[in-house]
Amino acid sequence: MGGSGSGRRSSYDAKQTVEDCLDLDVNKLARDGMIRRTPWQGSLIWTNTRTGEQIASVGYTCTGSGDDWTLTLNYTVTRRDGEKHDVRLPIPLQTTVPCFGGERWWFTCPLVVRGRSCLRRVGKLYPPPGGLYFGCRRCYDLAYTTCQESHKHDRLFRSIAGVVGCTPEMVKGFFRDRW
Ligand SMILES: [Zn+2]
Repeated sequence: MGGSGSGRRSSYDAKQTVEDCLDLDVNKLARDGMIRRTPWQGSLIWTNTRTGEQIASVGYTCTGSGDDWTLTLNYTVTRRDGEKHDVRLPIPLQTTVPCFGGERWWFTCPLVVRGRSCLRRVGKLYPPPGGLYFGCRRCYDLAYTTCQESHKHDRLFRSIAGVVGCTPEMVKGFFRDRW
């Protein structure tokens, strides 16, 4: 990650996000002067460290005043079906003063999961595997767990369905109503 420029809208391919771990590290951004107490804009570019090829880029603006700063990301996600989505994602920033002095920046996770704003104070945000928005690890762990949980008993449902002679969906529905 690095670089700067004037491009405000750029893109990344959602297919590559998981393997290449395109994370946003607030400390690195602050260290590189991309987050600071001055309105600022630029772009973040991820490159494949092996081939040097550009994997993804995200345009950003840093705006605010006093203690109230927001990093807004602008990017285009190309989903697996080829459809492009333009995303504008404002991420509120927070600062704390560590005991050894100075200032530490934090992201406020911008995701809403099951109708609830996350708002966790985090140092890193991750792009969604195949999704649209950057969010904290907890949000995506939750999403993964839910997804896996809902398929946890699929094999069991299939074998019961085979024995009693109905569809796995019927068995699943039967258990769902009773658990
Ligand atoms: Zn979160």
